[in-house]
Amino acid sequence: MIPMDLIFEISKPGRRGYRLPDLDVERTDPKEIIPEGYLRNDLNLPEVSEPDVVRHFTRLSQRNYAVDTTMVPLGSCTMKYNPRINEELADIPQIRDVHPLTPEELVQGSLRIAYELKELLKELGGFADVSLQPAAGAQGELLGLMLITAYHRDRGNRKRKVLIPDTAHGTNPASAAICGFEVVTVKSDGRGELDWEDFRRKLTDDVAALMITNPNTLGIFERRIREMAQELHEVDALLYMDGANFNALVGVARPGEWGVDVMHFNLHKTFSTPHGGGGPGSGPVGVSERLKPYLPVPQVDFDGKRYYLRWDIPKTVGKVLAFWGHYGVWIKALAYILYYGSDIKKVARYAVLNARYLKHLLRGLLHDPYPDSPCMHEFVLSAVNLRRYNLTAMDLVKRLLDFGFYAPTVYFPLTVREALMIEPTETESPDTLRRFAQAIKDILREARESPQELKSAPKRTPVRRIKEAEANRKPVLRYNRG
Ligand SMILES: *Cc1c(COP(=O)(O)O)cnc(C)c1O
Repeated sequence: MIPMDLIFEISKPGRRGYRLPDLDVERTDPKEIIPEGYLRNDLNLPEVSEPDVVRHFTRLSQRNYAVDTTMVPLGSCTMKYNPRINEELADIPQIRDVHPLTPEELVQGSLRIAYELKELLKELGGFADVSLQPAAGAQGELLGLMLITAYHRDRGNRKRKVLIPDTAHGTNPASAAICGFEVVTVKSDGRGELDWEDFRRKLTDDVAALMITNPNTLGIFERRIREMAQELHEVDALLYMDGANFNALVGVARPGEWGVDVMHFNLHKTFSTPHGGGGPGSGPVGVSERLKPYLPVPQVDFDGKRYYLRWDIPKTVGKVLAFWGHYGVWIKALAYILYYGSDIKKVARYAVLNARYLKHLLRGLLHDPYPDSPCMHEFVLSAVNLRRYNLTAMDLVKRLLDFGFYAPTVYFPLTVREALMIEPTETESPDTLRRFAQAIKDILREARESPQELKSAPKRTPVRRIKEAEANRKPVLRYNRG
């Protein structure tokens, strides 16, 4: 591998990556036009040529694992392949370059795209209405809880608790806490589903909602979801469903029909937008009739003749994002949905089939904490059997990198010790799944024969073991020369 300097280290004073034409106006001293304090000379920006820049960033990109180079089996993240057709459509200038404040009559096509996506999400989710606004799943959760708050306030209910299972994604309790709710954790049972007795015990009059994920983060389907909705509605509490795992259901089941009152879609997961590097997501929220009156403004609508943004929603919670939403992601999601058309259930069927096949291939190699529950689109295994060699789930997945695979999600959900959460998605072939299973098998043999070797994995990556959380806790955002 070509050694790589930091971009700052290849910098040479005066080197340029661009050339501007000679000035054809009189030169002005920047100090005369830019207010004092705004003009700085100490930014330490690297000075490099165009080839320096291109090579630097191309090499950097090659040092990352990505879904374009390998399978990324990150459970719960749904890292499916992102078809290029999506990118091409999102890049059509007439779509890409529209200013968000263009008068409606000039962007009927763009509004129609948004409207049709909204209608398709309503259909797929079985909801009375959908807001496309939220920027990602986590903001969809926040909006969902704002809608639930508005509903209870409107009805004069005094509710302060939100029930959340112990397998939930961390954003669930975070969203509830930000909305001012007290989070009450509900246990999972021996099959990995919501513990019914614990749920019933904790469902008191002051409960505003249950936030459930289905299939849950163990990849297990919550079979009593309809009953949950009934029990909740009896005490005028609502059912929030985290739709991050909608990939297991799309085209096959409609959560709105189970009695779900609000669900966020993660368009970037279920409908194939590149994500994971922090790139734009989109977290539309679908609602039942109960929550429809509180949806954010504006709602994109159609009166039979023209498409328009509707602002007259008297009980709206307001606006939750600048402008209208992450339009580029909408295009990619719409392209993915329309590509499959009425065959979209194939997405869910192959996602589940792939997960079940891979789980079958791994049978007997790793501990299965829930052997009696068939998995949906993902599954969780435990690496506790590595403990006898003094190894952990982390050692195993670090070695996977040397075999050319990205690591699965580890140590989540928190209810399974040494958890490995594996989600192959529908876009991997059986060959890739067999290669992945073989890699795990090979690593487990290494664990038996030379456990010390695993401790020093990965060996073939540009960096070895990094401190997992250091960059988050102590970010270095500035490079100081010398
Ligand atoms: C990804 C995910 C979220 C959060 O969605 P973002 O789009 O990343 O904000 C919430 N819940 C679950 C189960 C998830 O997997």
